[in-house]
Amino acid sequence: MPPIIGIDLGTTNSCAAIVEGEGQVKLIPYKGGDFTIPSIFAIDEKGHELVGHEAKRQWQLNPKNTVYASKRVIGRAYSSEVVDVMKQVVAYAMRRGDHDDVVLDVAHKTFALSEIAAKILNKIRDVAQDYLGEKVERAVVTVPAYFTDRQRQAVKDAGRLIGLEVVRIINEPTAASLAYGIGKDLHETVLIYDLGGGTFDVSIIEIRGQIFEVKATGGDIFLGGIDFDNAIIGHVLAEFSKSQHLDLSGDPVAMQRIKDLAERSKIDLSTRAEVPFTVPFVTMSAQGMPLNIEMKLSRPLLEELTSGLVDRTMRIVRSVLRDSGLAVGDIDEVMLVGGQTRMPLVQQQLSSFFGKAPSKGVHPDEAVAIGAAIYASSLETGSATKLQLLDVIPMAIGIEAAGERFHKVFQRNAPIPNAKAITATTSYDDQTEVAMRIYQGEAELVTGNELLGDFLFSGLRAAPAGAARIEVVFDVNVEGILTMSARDLETGKQMKTTVRVTQH
Ligand code: AMP
Repeated sequence: MPPIIGIDLGTTNSCAAIVEGEGQVKLIPYKGGDFTIPSIFAIDEKGHELVGHEAKRQWQLNPKNTVYASKRVIGRAYSSEVVDVMKQVVAYAMRRGDHDDVVLDVAHKTFALSEIAAKILNKIRDVAQDYLGEKVERAVVTVPAYFTDRQRQAVKDAGRLIGLEVVRIINEPTAASLAYGIGKDLHETVLIYDLGGGTFDVSIIEIRGQIFEVKATGGDIFLGGIDFDNAIIGHVLAEFSKSQHLDLSGDPVAMQRIKDLAERSKIDLSTRAEVPFTVPFVTMSAQGMPLNIEMKLSRPLLEELTSGLVDRTMRIVRSVLRDSGLAVGDIDEVMLVGGQTRMPLVQQQLSSFFGKAPSKGVHPDEAVAIGAAIYASSLETGSATKLQLLDVIPMAIGIEAAGERFHKVFQRNAPIPNAKAITATTSYDDQTEVAMRIYQGEAELVTGNELLGDFLFSGLRAAPAGAARIEVVFDVNVEGILTMSARDLETGKQMKTTVRVTQH
């Protein structure tokens, strides 16, 4: 049987791993060195498609045709706030697609976001095939715990586009807990604090031997390392404008250089107290003189600029703890996942909240891919590892009720798989179709939530208003993906279910 690999499809970097013959987990190296591949896709001026390191290398020179951080908007409605914010920070062009989805124009070609994810998955697959010397057709892929149904579907679609079967989607923090707890016969409760390039997740997971049970999860899929970079960029632009009375934000090449250096400085400030921030010849003065950015950044300044972001993560930690019904003292270990958790301020805040330092039990950049590979291997036929992952729905799922109110069918943190039925009836005589709008989120009005789909159930028997009743079943599978079905309650006949649109 060809192998199943584990893939951590990250916002900034992706990584793959596999369990080899004797149960050893191996990260798959790229050209002998790096274990991570930048999640970047580009088309260069010759029309060549580039993915990963090659795409990153030419990013500064070709910002408009270089797509990065696209995971932030995958499976999102074009009309959502997330997309508005994203449009302000990226140089590539985003447009509304036919289904209120987001499409990208890269070098005069149009791409859906699942096509971009497919390019990245394909690159990872190629690297894995080179390394393993055999074909790879199946993978377990991780997603942020806080991904909606629609975002999970988009990742599955990406696999389908390149003939890579995404055998199972699992949540990133859950995968990390596997990397930590497998084979140790642990009986403890861990909190996974996962702050990556673009997303933030927290999960509280009870480990009982081979059983990994998520008690509660929460997060913000719009909070990650990129926002820390943006805080620095904002500061640098403001300082430059103060001293030179020039706004650099409209200059893509200057912005790209500032962005690159902002991230590098942020990383250096995790281990140093102060770093220079110098961008030579960033622009010209009105008199045609070359101008430089020359300043210094200190760790206290970085902390001042980003403490609001760290506070946001701590608020989420508190609310997930509340949801789990546990107290601070019930958490045996706090686990750090994601590159941004290397920031000292993050570790200090967690230490002071939990009264102990976070565990060094997993590698922050590798744990997710390793966990995905461990899970993949447990799915292989004949595997002796009988793992049980019991996960939850990150946000409520429900329907639109009168007055645009959101009627929850599943509460957040409901265990999955899970099915629930509701009864609906007709509102006028001889009505043969019932429409239902399904949303996911925590807002009281549907307008504040993400539209998952607009379903039409047809084939209802003609009857006076209120006489025909249908049962609508919401089925959320182990991957957190929803399917809908309906039947006529009198005749038992299954009704035809169509997703009409996913549009606001
Ligand atoms: P990940 O998605 O887990 O690869 O996380 C990548 C994010 O972590 C990026 O925003 C990086 O800038 C950030 N990062 C990586 N190393 C460090 C570090 N030493 N200190 C602060 N942030 C870091």
